[in-house]
Amino acid sequence: MTEPYIPLAERLFEQLRAQSHDGVGITRDTYGAGEQAAHATLAECARLLGLEVTRDAALNLYMTLPGQRRDLPAVVTGSHLDSVPRGGNYDGAAGVVAGMAVLAGWVRAGLTPQRDVVVMGIRAEESAWFPVSYVGSKAAFGLLKAQDLQALRPDTQRSLAEHIRECGGQPEQVAAGAARLQAKDLDCFVELHIEQGPVLIGAGVASGVVTGICGSHRYRAAQVLGRYAHSGATPRGHRADAVVALAALIDRLQDVWAELESAGHELTLTFGQVYTDPKQADFSKVPGQVSFTVDIRSRDTATLRLMDERLHETADTIAAAQGVSFEWGESSGSQPAIMDSALRQALHDAAAATGTSVRDMPSGAGHDSATFANQGVPSAMLFVRNANGSHNPDEAMDMADFTAATRTLARVLAARAGLPQAG
Ligand SMILES: [Zn+2]
Repeated sequence: MTEPYIPLAERLFEQLRAQSHDGVGITRDTYGAGEQAAHATLAECARLLGLEVTRDAALNLYMTLPGQRRDLPAVVTGSHLDSVPRGGNYDGAAGVVAGMAVLAGWVRAGLTPQRDVVVMGIRAEESAWFPVSYVGSKAAFGLLKAQDLQALRPDTQRSLAEHIRECGGQPEQVAAGAARLQAKDLDCFVELHIEQGPVLIGAGVASGVVTGICGSHRYRAAQVLGRYAHSGATPRGHRADAVVALAALIDRLQDVWAELESAGHELTLTFGQVYTDPKQADFSKVPGQVSFTVDIRSRDTATLRLMDERLHETADTIAAAQGVSFEWGESSGSQPAIMDSALRQALHDAAAATGTSVRDMPSGAGHDSATFANQGVPSAMLFVRNANGSHNPDEAMDMADFTAATRTLARVLAARAGLPQAG
């Protein structure tokens, strides 16, 4: 089996880090200078390897090693190239770089697979920039809604459509549902990604085979409305204290969460932002308003719905008792996804063959693989052990673990693509 060409991966990681270091961490902003530079770097690398390089209307990047039978469904790997603000170098990029290292190994050995093998540089996976999940992979399948293209990037106050156009894409085609990918043309999608939690480090295992990807249900702009009042002059029974009401909601929902867990549901519930208005709130005022966010995640759609129902029931009870009101704003979210069992087994077998320790695990974070899986493409994910989580500058993947995972990936892609065995 031809080995991936790891020196290329090391060079690409260095180049990506150098061009997107912001002084604190890595910033590859979605449809901005950072993501553009990463796409240019990967496209140039692909050209030097002699791969076919194409883009769709949303500017997803397709780097293809043509197969002998171009009519057969293609094998696809890859991941996203954007990052959160002040993030790390590996979240997303590792999956694209791994795919390039695999193809570089085959190109150097002069091998041609049966099927086309495509490494995708997917756009806009990090919803830190636009409040829409899986922009790039949804657009590739023609699934992005016209209204999604009107979403604003908070730091620029310009729409997704404007950003896509500025980068050279065609937002009108995206809005019209132009699809570059269709499930029937794809044999499989396999995404390598760093693990974003502490499970593999804790277990002393190098790789993780993902069993399923959590979906989400979110409120990004919820608020509690009460009544501002003098903190000394307003007795307890006369208050409509927004902070007290939200505290009660958060506290009661911890019990609801525990109760759902003991009934066999798997989920997470997070109030990641809670803040009063600094212009109005004061230490000597009863708070009249609090803004907050809610992020519910689960691998089961019914569980997402159940937690959402309980959230609203609990809020309604508190509102009635405390004289406040809850306003939820728009909700957003993504569908959970199940990973393909044959591909999961293939990843286990390949890891065993290369002597890499591996275990099954769910993905609490969302990934583009969910879009592929929900379109009916057999999909799988391989996690690489990584310290300090992700979405921060301290993520720390060991190159030895990356190499082991990339070798596992190479074996699975070779088997799916019908690569002649070489040595
Ligand atoms: Zn990622």
